[in-house]
Amino acid sequence: MTRPLVHPARLILVLAALVATACAPDPGETRVRFMAMGTLVDITVFGAEPETAEAAAASAESLFHRLQAEWDPWGEGALGQLNQDLSSRGRAMAGPDLYALLEAAAELSAETRGRFDPTVGSLVRLWGFSRDEAARQSPPEADEVAEAAATVRPLADLLAGPGELRAPPGTRLDLGGFAKGVAVQRATDLLLAEGLENVLVNAGGDLRAVGRHGDRPWRVGVRQPRGNGVLAVIETAGDESVFTSGDYERFFLYEGTRYHHILDPRSGWPARGLASVTVVHGDAGVADAAATALFVAGEEDWPATAAAMGISLAMVVTDSGVVEMTPGMKARLRFPPEVSPETRIRKLP
Ligand code: ADP
Ligand code: MG
Repeated sequence: MTRPLVHPARLILVLAALVATACAPDPGETRVRFMAMGTLVDITVFGAEPETAEAAAASAESLFHRLQAEWDPWGEGALGQLNQDLSSRGRAMAGPDLYALLEAAAELSAETRGRFDPTVGSLVRLWGFSRDEAARQSPPEADEVAEAAATVRPLADLLAGPGELRAPPGTRLDLGGFAKGVAVQRATDLLLAEGLENVLVNAGGDLRAVGRHGDRPWRVGVRQPRGNGVLAVIETAGDESVFTSGDYERFFLYEGTRYHHILDPRSGWPARGLASVTVVHGDAGVADAAATALFVAGEEDWPATAAAMGISLAMVVTDSGVVEMTPGMKARLRFPPEVSPETRIRKLP
């Protein structure tokens, strides 16, 4: 009888140990993961007692779930209720927190001259990109798109005064381009208020990083919009958020054309020209709105839109794979050796 060199049971143990080593966090690091807002949220804390970090992350998780319910445009929470009231009565009342959030969104929307506009609710629903809607296999008819696009208007025009909104028929709110950023901002604030100093809150690649990962900065990868690898690595400093909007996140293909979830509010059709936009900014909500806005602005207009929003660190990948970036962003990016894209520097006006 020949004996195997390593007994199978033993081999399994060795493999299990190897896998465990590969997954083991750095010493000093505590990680907590959960699903929220339709994505995997990954909280990493460095240099704190695991019990303290885990308790704080559990509070952050509850906050994510609460905000998700409150800001679901089609659910039973505050924003869903508001949309229902707008549809039945043309007016609605919002509580102080939601109203302040809408005021902030209206200000950002105005800076982008409507490229970011949360009044796209009816359009998002028509295109089947609202969460409770089955995804489409083919685009809507042009006249349906035009009709839904006609319900978009400056959010500021809806805000009628303390807590009150008024909207013409068909206008609905959708905070999909902003809410995740605000949730990341607030969840991180909560961790900091618990006394943690080095934290990374990563919601599916959109993140806020504060402090450091031990003796090095937090390091984050930006993915290739086409393919799965890492396009570039950014090291954050102090308190920074990195948000990416891409046409690969939610889309369907019809007759060889990609129809994705970032809509140009002016036309009602998916924005064309770019494959992804990455923004670095000191506030996660602003970074989120800006990534969406620059995507809609497209190849021609993104630098002007960034300047109008006070964004100095941005990188875009065009549909043809060219990487364009602001001078400040160039200084912050590192491309892995196997990646050598054509790059262009775009100065901000
Ligand atoms: P993600 O949420 O997938 O990271 P974005 O931040 O770019 O991507 O947000 C896209 C979402 O924002 C869409 O799913 C939709 O709900 C909403 N949206 C789409 N187009 C716009 C727009 N022009 N302005 C504001 N919100 C938009
Ligand atoms: Mg966004």
